[in-house]
This record gives sequence, structure tokens and C-alpha cells, in this order.
Amino acid sequence: QAKTLGRGRFEFFDVALRERLQRRLRMEQDLRDAVQNGQLWPAYQPVVDLRSGEMVAVEALLRWTHPTHGAIPPGEFIPLAEESELINVIGKHVLKATTRELAGRRSAHGLDLHLKVNLSVRQLDDPQLVAAVQDTLLATGLPPGALCLEVTESALMRDHTAAAEVLTSLRELGVLLAIDDFGTGYSSLAQLRRLTLDTLKIDRSFITGIAESRDAAAIVASIIAMAHAVGLTVVAEGVETADQLDLLRELGCDQAQGFHLGRPSAATELFGAAL
Ligand code: C2E
Ligand code: MG
Ligand code: MG
Ligand code: MG
Repeated sequence: QAKTLGRGRFEFFDVALRERLQRRLRMEQDLRDAVQNGQLWPAYQPVVDLRSGEMVAVEALLRWTHPTHGAIPPGEFIPLAEESELINVIGKHVLKATTRELAGRRSAHGLDLHLKVNLSVRQLDDPQLVAAVQDTLLATGLPPGALCLEVTESALMRDHTAAAEVLTSLRELGVLLAIDDFGTGYSSLAQLRRLTLDTLKIDRSFITGIAESRDAAAIVASIIAMAHAVGLTVVAEGVETADQLDLLRELGCDQAQGFHLGRPSAATELFGAAL
């Protein structure tokens, strides 16, 4: 009795597992095709300077419009891409497309906008990454100092020599580096200094409660003070209300980004007709 039950259950899980696996393989193939078919496109979200109130940068956030499933968020397809070398293909594609777009917009509109591009931790293991960044900058004419690469705190804190060397080489190109989602990992001041970054982005989860909770505001104040002490520019992400924005300005935060300031949108929506 127990034996048959056991086997039945095993087969049930086996079927479920096989279906999950098949679905994943299908999505992975779809994602491969998506790169070729132009279904992957970058949205751009404004980053605003809190002193001048002006848009000083845009962050490229990748979008996938799937032919049958519609919009699939990056939180789903980026991890899928990270399971294979596909992330390197996608990453280079994003870098090329967005630097070209930004270089064009800068010269056409006389804008001094910076471009922020997210890098996956796996891309830091790609021996061709640095050359690809350099080639892209040369080909598009975007000044290296106008490109900021964002790496999440958890990715940066891996004790990985090869990745650290890649970051150093990127800096030598003149590219800026940001630590993304700060506060969600466990980095120390010493590690922050050693990495020689330019920008620290405070994770949205810390911004959410600042207008209501004195403790939440105090935590953000101390992150800003710490970042400034080691010479980093501070960006707050996920700013959704005017109260949060006012408070961040009072706390001396340098830049902010969030739905209150502008949602991620297509380049044509943000800058006007295609070039
Ligand atoms: P991230 O780099 O931390 O990007 C910020 C995320 O917060 C974006 O989600 C953005 O749409 C969202 N966001 C911005 N303002 C607000 C706000 O006021 N409220 C709320 N609730 N959300 C806000 P998105 O576009 O879904 O991207 C999620 C993550 O996917 C990104 O987090 C980034 O880690 C990753 N990602 C996106 N594009 C790329 C890419 O081209 N390459 C890589 N490697 N990762 C990417
Ligand atoms: Mg980011
Ligand atoms: Mg972030
Ligand atoms: Mg985030």
C-alpha cells in the first residue's frame, strides 16, 4: 500500500518536474529568438539631480515583449538568461543599443545625459566584456565618463578576483561604476572603499517608509552620510511620492529615481521621435 502510494507520488512529481523543465527550455529558446527578432528593447527611466531638479541620467531597463505571453518582466527573464551564456549575448546587445541611442540623443538635442546600464554578475566573468565595452564606446562616440555600469551589491561582494580585475579594467576605460540595490547585502565600509566605485544606489525597500517612519529616515540618513564619507554619489531608487522626494533632498541625497519622477519608457516617449 505504502509502496504504491510512494511510487504514485513519485510519478506525479516526475511529471510536474518534466513540465517545468520543458517550459523553461521553451522560454529559453524563446529568449534566444527574442534577441534576433527585436522583442527585447530598452526602456529608459529618468534620474533626477536633487539640487537642480533636472534629469541628469537615464537608466536602461530591459523589456521583453513576447509574441504570445506579452510583457515579461526582467525579474523573470534575466535570471533565466543568467543560467546560460545567453546573458552575455543579451548584455552586449543592450550595451550596444543603449550607447548608440544615448550618443545620438546627446548630439541631436545637445544633452549632457549619462547612461546607466545594469550588468549581471555573470557578465563580470566574461573575458570579452571589457573589450566589448571599449569597442561600443569607440563605435558610438559616447564619452566613457557618460556611461555608468550598475552591479548589485550581492554580486560585488562575491570574493572573486577575476571579477575585481574586470571592474578595475572598466574603471581604467574611464567608465563609472555603481553599486545597485545597496542595503540588501552585507558590505562593509572597507569593502566599499576597496572597490573604488562612483555611485551608491539605495535600494527601494529603504525608501518606501521614510516619510512615515523616523527610524527608516534615520537609516537612509546614515547610508547617505557613510557614502559621502567615502566620496560616493548617492542615488535613491523607488521614489514614489513628493514627501519622499522632499525628505531625500533635506537629507542631502544627490539624485533620485522613481515613479514619482518618471516611469521607465521607450526612448521615443522620453526624447521624441526616433532619430
Ligand atoms: P534595478 O536595476 O534595481 O532597477 C530598478 C527597478 O525598479 C526597475 O524594475 C524599475 O522599473 C523599478 N522602479 C523604478 N522606480 C520605481 C518606483 O518608484 N516604484 C517601484 N515599485 N519600482 C520602481 P524592472 O525594470 O522590473 O527591473 C528589475 C531588475 O531587473 C533591475 O533592478 C535589474 O536588476 C534587472 N535588469 C533590468 N534590465 C536589465 C539589463 O539590461 N541587464 C541586467 N543584467 N539586468 C537588468
Ligand atoms: Mg539598476
Ligand atoms: Mg536598483
Ligand atoms: Mg533593484
